[in-house]
Amino acid sequence: MLNAALITPETARLYGLASHALVEVLSPNAGQATGFLLEPHTAIAFGAMAEKAAKDGIQLAICSAYRPFDRQLAIWNAKASGKRAVLDENEQAVDIEGLTDNELIDLILLWSALPGASRHHWGTDIDVFDAKQVAISDLRLVEAEYSHQGPCAKLHHWLVTHAEAFGFYFPFQRGKSGVSPEPWHISYFPVSQTLLPQFDHLALANLIENSDMLLKGAVLARLDTLVDKYVRQIATPKDHLQP
Ligand SMILES: [Zn+2]
Repeated sequence: MLNAALITPETARLYGLASHALVEVLSPNAGQATGFLLEPHTAIAFGAMAEKAAKDGIQLAICSAYRPFDRQLAIWNAKASGKRAVLDENEQAVDIEGLTDNELIDLILLWSALPGASRHHWGTDIDVFDAKQVAISDLRLVEAEYSHQGPCAKLHHWLVTHAEAFGFYFPFQRGKSGVSPEPWHISYFPVSQTLLPQFDHLALANLIENSDMLLKGAVLARLDTLVDKYVRQIATPKDHLQP
């Protein structure tokens, strides 16, 4: 059973179990609902940033915002069961046949968070792209799209220069975070930095134990280490990327 002492109504948001306090993001031009949910302060700051980006010829758009626990669980289980491709550090698909549980866990964690341990659960973190340069259906979310001549290179350069003024930064940076570098993933630090210290690996253990997550025995056996690496080891707002 879920241990109510470990996850309260106040802390449920940390693990993707509460969306009631979130707001839906509206598209900048027509003001239409986009279906993406964010924490209210993050939504306001993002709207202001998107408006400024538009003036500079960039259509700052969202491809992923709030993600509930169940959605992250579905992604995890699809990868753990071979229904969805598992990529190595060079973004190449791996044959998972014959891997040990721990080898498979390490591979999945290169590009996907543990259910309950994704920053997308918080409503403060967003994956972005330049909708003027690439259609969401063509987007692969790989580093090459955000560097050199990639369709989102200009957007990335713009964010490196301007995001901080709006409260956003890149939490997943090479050499700084346990998670692989994600030049598309930004975080609203005035709120996200207040959430991280509240993250409790015992609450996460309880949640995973009571879920139908694949590989959960092997994950629970090393959960402390996984949380240290993939949740707590993170770039800080002071770790500026160079334009
Ligand atoms: Zn992301």
